[in-house]
Amino acid sequence: MKLSRRSFLKLTGTATAAATLTSLSLQGDSVAEASSYPVRLSYAKEVTSICTFCGVGCSILYHVKDGVVINAEGDPDSPVNEGALCPKGGSIYNLSYMYEKKGKPVVNPNRLTKPLYRAPGSDHWEEKSWDWMMETIVKRIKDTRDSTFQTVDENGVTVNRTTAIAWLGSSYCTNEENYLFHKMARAMGIINIDHCARL
Ligand code: SF4
Repeated sequence: MKLSRRSFLKLTGTATAAATLTSLSLQGDSVAEASSYPVRLSYAKEVTSICTFCGVGCSILYHVKDGVVINAEGDPDSPVNEGALCPKGGSIYNLSYMYEKKGKPVVNPNRLTKPLYRAPGSDHWEEKSWDWMMETIVKRIKDTRDSTFQTVDENGVTVNRTTAIAWLGSSYCTNEENYLFHKMARAMGIINIDHCARL
């Protein structure tokens, strides 16, 4: 079949109109279907929070029923994410809860609730207390810093640094927390500082 430019435009215009009408009619069906479900706000409390995964700071709406989070989704009122979440943020519900087979929310059994420590050369993790963790980290930082601190470099220039410690920031932290971590690392003479989102 030979198509002139005019008939080609007519044909594609008709196809586009048909596709739009089909889509509208499908949307109409799903709106009608959705309206038969109870509105979540009628049985759950809505709580606004911030995604804990990275520094973008997307806003999340949580729905809580009887003290249990039953849903998490992007907050459409947030100017940061306008209701959208990346795959990581979209799975934030599973940090704490998951759905059992019948759809009931249950606490995620894989959730870590205690600090875990793996000793150098060990092949397994041990549960430790927060106090033990904090004391061990502080002691190791101090010992390493004290034994490697340089006040001057090989040319006699004052440097006051250690190159034996690297400091990695966290996307779990806010900009302000990362700013303070950065200051603390600099105050200790650490110069190898980085962050997965380069904050
Ligand atoms: S991890 Fe994704 S959803 Fe969470 S703040 Fe970052 S971009 Fe937003």
